[in-house]
Amino acid sequence: MRIKDNVKSVYTQIIVLCEIFHISFLFIFKHFSMQIPFMYNIGSVIFYILMLFVVLKGYYRVCIVLVHLEVSAFVTVTVLNGGYSSDFALYLISMATFVYFNPFKHRSVTYIFSICEVLLYIGLTLHCRHIYSEAEVHIVFVSIYNTVLAVGIILIGAYISDVSATVTHRKLVDENKTLNNLANYDRLTGLQSRRMFMERIKDSEDNKSVVICIGDIDDFKKINDTYGHLCGDYVLQNISEIMRKSLGLENIDICRWGGEEFVFMFCNDDIDSAFVKVENLRKTIENKNFVYENNNIYVTMTFGIIERDSGKVDDVLLESADKLLYRGKINGKNVVVKA
Ligand code: GH3
Ligand code: MG
Ligand code: MG
Repeated sequence: MRIKDNVKSVYTQIIVLCEIFHISFLFIFKHFSMQIPFMYNIGSVIFYILMLFVVLKGYYRVCIVLVHLEVSAFVTVTVLNGGYSSDFALYLISMATFVYFNPFKHRSVTYIFSICEVLLYIGLTLHCRHIYSEAEVHIVFVSIYNTVLAVGIILIGAYISDVSATVTHRKLVDENKTLNNLANYDRLTGLQSRRMFMERIKDSEDNKSVVICIGDIDDFKKINDTYGHLCGDYVLQNISEIMRKSLGLENIDICRWGGEEFVFMFCNDDIDSAFVKVENLRKTIENKNFVYENNNIYVTMTFGIIERDSGKVDDVLLESADKLLYRGKINGKNVVVKA
């Protein structure tokens, strides 16, 4: 089930529960001939049917505000018409649990509702409890004090769980970012991974012109064998940087296809203008002196470049580019071969 559906289902269940409570009150009020609460309660039953539609439409904020108001009105009507000792005022305290449902932008709104309900509770208590002696004043004071503390405990509990949920959420977001970076970008060069590049290819389907180029470093094994693997890594990193600078970042995707192979996708160039860019890149690499531990290292690259005709950029097109690259390799390397 998607998160959105989950939220809707939780709100729906709350409303259904409220509806069941109010239907049960219909029988109770009828049985005990509590006329005014009975009449009011008919309104409540209709109200929660309407609230079901509000929730199904996804207006959770409206729903929670109206439920708070309805409960406050219901308690006031029943306490004033049924007597304080029936304990209807307890529902105002139970509303403190609503701090766990927070559809509001500002978290404080939900706490403010709770505080208002406690104030209403105190107001009803002071209005309805008959105080005949000083001893009763003390009892009422302690009772109100205990009520405030009890609600405070619920609110603090909710706040703590809220803070820890926020911390966990932030951790998850950070971890997700890290995982995404690991999956989408090559660790050594920072270029797009093969996985991300394939996604980008899918996104490029609507582009009018797409040119694909595959490049491979010439005799790279010799660099590893002569200067060591770390030197090979150093060259790979530096060549990637040159690619980024030389080709730019707009309307082009640069991917480390694997090993010492790279694929470029030009989305705004025809094959002739992309060819010029790759040819410039080839010359820049050819003329670059990579200095590693006092060794002057010169590297060349061979490229195969092809334009998508009508269909998609698919394995067949990538294979065709690879064949052009191979043609460059067998004809002496350090060249851009155009389809
Ligand atoms: P060619 O001109 O025909 O492409 O020859 P080549 O030596 O470049 O090609 P070959 O496929 O024989 O060798 C590629 C080498 O690239 C072998 C492999 O060890 C090395 N290589 C692949 N990935 C990495 C890497 O991440 N770091 C380093 N240092 N070397 C790598
Ligand atoms: Mg190679
Ligand atoms: Mg290779």
